[in-house]
Amino acid sequence: MTGLNNTNTVVIGAGTMGHGIAHVCALAGLPTTLVDVDQAVLDKGRAAIETNLQKGVDRGKISAEDMAGALSRLSVRTDAGAYAHAGLIIEAVPERMELKQSIFRTLDEQAPADCVLGTNTSSLSITAIAAATKRPDRVVGLHFFNPVHIMKLLEVVRGVHTSEATLATARGLAETLGKTAIFVDDAPGFATSRLGITLGNEAMRMVEQGVAGPRDIDTAMTLGYKHPMGPLMLTDLVGLDVRYHISQALYEELGTDTFRPPLILRKLVRAGALGKKTGAGFYLYENGQVVGENPLVRR
Ligand code: NAD
Repeated sequence: MTGLNNTNTVVIGAGTMGHGIAHVCALAGLPTTLVDVDQAVLDKGRAAIETNLQKGVDRGKISAEDMAGALSRLSVRTDAGAYAHAGLIIEAVPERMELKQSIFRTLDEQAPADCVLGTNTSSLSITAIAAATKRPDRVVGLHFFNPVHIMKLLEVVRGVHTSEATLATARGLAETLGKTAIFVDDAPGFATSRLGITLGNEAMRMVEQGVAGPRDIDTAMTLGYKHPMGPLMLTDLVGLDVRYHISQALYEELGTDTFRPPLILRKLVRAGALGKKTGAGFYLYENGQVVGENPLVRR
């Protein structure tokens, strides 16, 4: 399989993930349009792409010509006019089924018949999103990781009706972007979220049971298993509320106690300790740096 060549690519949603996806697509040579309902988010997204490209130049990862080329291939807009000539569309709007389905209904009306429709959802069913269209064979999960320009994984999720041709496009996209693709069926939490939540929930239950404190549990995994970050610090980074919702969704779908959100997670979320973004989660933060464990955790 060869990579995608000059495919007109549209990314919908210019938030945390969307601007990162647009960055890697434009840098890889794809004419890329970033769409958002909010012009201020688009301006911020474009500025973030420029900053991150510049960091790449400063660190010698890409050349100044690469950066100029990427910016010349990137356009931003607030209207849906971009869909009519797209070969690939990647949706990265907030994680709400009804919002994603309404966007896919619009895409079904406006995008060319052979356009591949990807969604960056981290937990919703691809098959259910695809059901909003009359072309579920062209719909596929394209799950990128944050920060997109650094993380090497692309988790490709097959809906029940996703065709081989659509999967080949996803494989080609990974190749073009220099990412490693894994292929998983449309099961709750796919591969990444399901395993990540399992480890995170067990680490939280160990804290509850007094087996060890957050720092020792995290160090067990960083030094003992070579994880770049322990499961509790990762939970702080992603957001305790985000992890809670994924865990609850997996519990409802899979029914096993592994996924039942731990009491400590519920307690911290109710207390507003949502992780790094609020300055407190399993750890306390000042200016984005860990300054200690959160005493609430042991109470
Ligand atoms: P975000 O809230 O940062 O960005 C979403 C953007 O979508 C916002 O800028 C919003 O203005 C825009 N938007 C909303 N409705 C729109 C519409 N109708 N048309 C166009 N734009 C619209 O969200 P995010 O964190 O980037 O997450 C996006 C998706 O990626 C979600 O499905 C999420 O589960 C998934 N995801 C997130 C992460 C992460 O670490 N944040 C990682 C992997 C996957």
